[in-house]
Amino acid sequence: MHAPIRPVAVVLAAAALCAACAGAAPAVPPDPPGTPGPVPPPVVVLDPGHNGGNAAAPAALARPVPDGRGGTKACNTTGTSTDDGYPEHAFNWDLAQRVRQRLEAAGVRVVLTRPDDDGVGPCVDERGAAGGRARAAAVVSLHADGAAASASGFHVAHADPPVHGTGPQALRLATALRDALRSGGFTPAGYLGQDGLHGRPDLAGLNHSTVPAALVEAGNMRNAAEARLLASPQGRDRYAGAISTGVLEYLGR
Ligand code: ZN
Repeated sequence: MHAPIRPVAVVLAAAALCAACAGAAPAVPPDPPGTPGPVPPPVVVLDPGHNGGNAAAPAALARPVPDGRGGTKACNTTGTSTDDGYPEHAFNWDLAQRVRQRLEAAGVRVVLTRPDDDGVGPCVDERGAAGGRARAAAVVSLHADGAAASASGFHVAHADPPVHGTGPQALRLATALRDALRSGGFTPAGYLGQDGLHGRPDLAGLNHSTVPAALVEAGNMRNAAEARLLASPQGRDRYAGAISTGVLEYLGR
């Protein structure tokens, strides 16, 4: 038989110690079952349009993919450029980094649809699915337009007719971006859309998104004055400030 004399003594001594300190430090009661944990940060997908390797991969770009409305569309396009050769894909990429920095500083988790500015694609259907995959609160595609030289101004596109039940929220996102760009001193486009908003049925990235999505056309790269702004780091900083303000406003942060 193993007589437990010593263990009992240790337990009794420990009980005495506990009794001595019980009044000094009351135990914290455990959380009741079902208490929510820390709230995870909201996720925002930034989708810098086109890609640096697209021009050298015409066959991959031309591959038809579902357009989200029952038809097909080319996988991706090269995008436009300023008259002196600053490419839209580089603008979109640089702008995305500046917006990302600001959103992350505000506690938002940012997911990009491409890892750098040297690759090909991804195709528009894949970009459109990125928001749902990331369980994002919002998707913002970043572009600049290539319209007639006399045209200028920004616009924010949203899927119209609405898709996947996201209509009201997508319009609220587009409106928040439009308002922030206007407050940031940018002029809504006079050559298309209305007051800087443009409902479109043909943007596959928006059509495929199961979470609220909007597409910013920051300005017209073929307009001389706007091209200077788009091509300058200071100009891109201003765009990034306005776009991140719009996203944070939409998120209620
Ligand atoms: Zn574009």
